[in-house]
Amino acid sequence: MSEKLRTEEAADFAQRCRTFLSAHTGGGRSIEAARDFLGAAVDAGLGGIVYPQEFGGAGLTKEHDKIWRSEKSRFPLVDTEYIISHGMCLPVLNDFGTSEQKKQFMPSNITGEHMWCQMFSEPNAGSDVASLRTTAVLDGDEWIINGQKVWTTLAHRSHYGVLIARTNPEVPKHAGISMFIVDMAAPGVEIRPIHQIDGGQHFNEVFFTDVRIPKDWLLGEQNNGWNQATAMLMYERVAIGTAGSGDITRRNFDMLAKRARKNGRIADPVVRDELMTIYAMETCKSLVAMRTRAEMKAGKAPGPGGSLGKLSGSVISRRVRAVAQNIDGLGSIAWQFEGDAGQELTRHVLNSFQDGIAGGTDEIQRNIIGDRVLGLPRDISVDKGVPFNEIAGS
Ligand SMILES: Cc1cc2nc3c(=O)[nH]c(=O)nc-3n(C[C@H](O)[C@H](O)[C@H](O)COP(=O)(O)OP(=O)(O)OC[C@H]3O[C@@H](n4cnc5c(N)ncnc54)[C@H](O)[C@@H]3O)c2cc1C
Repeated sequence: MSEKLRTEEAADFAQRCRTFLSAHTGGGRSIEAARDFLGAAVDAGLGGIVYPQEFGGAGLTKEHDKIWRSEKSRFPLVDTEYIISHGMCLPVLNDFGTSEQKKQFMPSNITGEHMWCQMFSEPNAGSDVASLRTTAVLDGDEWIINGQKVWTTLAHRSHYGVLIARTNPEVPKHAGISMFIVDMAAPGVEIRPIHQIDGGQHFNEVFFTDVRIPKDWLLGEQNNGWNQATAMLMYERVAIGTAGSGDITRRNFDMLAKRARKNGRIADPVVRDELMTIYAMETCKSLVAMRTRAEMKAGKAPGPGGSLGKLSGSVISRRVRAVAQNIDGLGSIAWQFEGDAGQELTRHVLNSFQDGIAGGTDEIQRNIIGDRVLGLPRDISVDKGVPFNEIAGS
């Protein structure tokens, strides 16, 4: 299909998206509501827009995807719980999966029937994830997995996960890693919840004890896992940095202004000044996100520019926390009961601490931007070229 849509085709498609979104975005932000939304999108020919029909997608163009995102950004967020499943695991399956893997795994991922999680981080391998110690050893027709992951978002709700594990300890750390598809219900997979500050339980520790997976669930090439993981992290930063932003959106500003109007603080000149700063920052972030999406639409692989969007989201989040505290005082860090009007703000304040960590910390984004966007000298690497099994503590 030609990439450039005629004006009337684009207008018709936008109208089709709007009609669908008006009818299907009222279900709230639960996983169940998201699954219903995604299933309905597939039925309407609007699910997995850019993915081939034979793998469960709509087989449309990136131009259609841009229109879809732009229209979607004007409606309430519904499918954010699928950000890892769709924003990270799906493109990686599409980029690196065999035809059989794509046929087997992509359709139920796209409909939301099967949720996917990302199993990269370990207790001693977060920013430096290439130091991971989980192992995968080939035994006949199966891989045997042993080790531990941590901070695995939604592992407890996921059917499958994308795992990276060490397949060769005798080469430098980046060179001996492979990527796998894991059935989260397989014997030997144990998922333990981590409880969060806001009372939620969104992520987990995941333990693997002699977990067996089929030989052909290796995703991509053996020992090429680091390159694939880097691609997935780029998708992750783009997904986080551009979430809900096919257009200029200012969701934090809207949330804060609503609260300030409600409790009368909107008349305070300092509050107004702070609100306008958030307004300007969110506008810039949307524009950066739109540029990143436009680059991807033009065929560029997601690059280190994705780190800009991710970092600015985190910087904004921290600032929003301070403004929320100024507007709402104690109300911004405590609430009394479900349905309390201040709850949206409170949850944001409590959860804002995650934004500078999840998907790579702010320091790591700054390193990437310094090194790969600005051309500054690289961060020091003390174990470059050293076989993994000769690194102290490995
Ligand atoms: C909400 C949330 C969801 C997550 N979901 C997932 C998930 O689904 N799957 C998954 O695999 N992981 C997930 N993570 C884990 C996340 O990727 C890691 O927490 C993150 O990469 C940081 O690793 P770490 O926690 O081990 O911190 P560390 O790497 O130990 O970092 C500690 C501190 O040292 C700093 N630091 C480290 N190295 C450098 C350096 N070279 N230069 C400058 N400073 C440095 C860091 O910036 C940080 O301040 C999630 C985390 C959060 C908060």
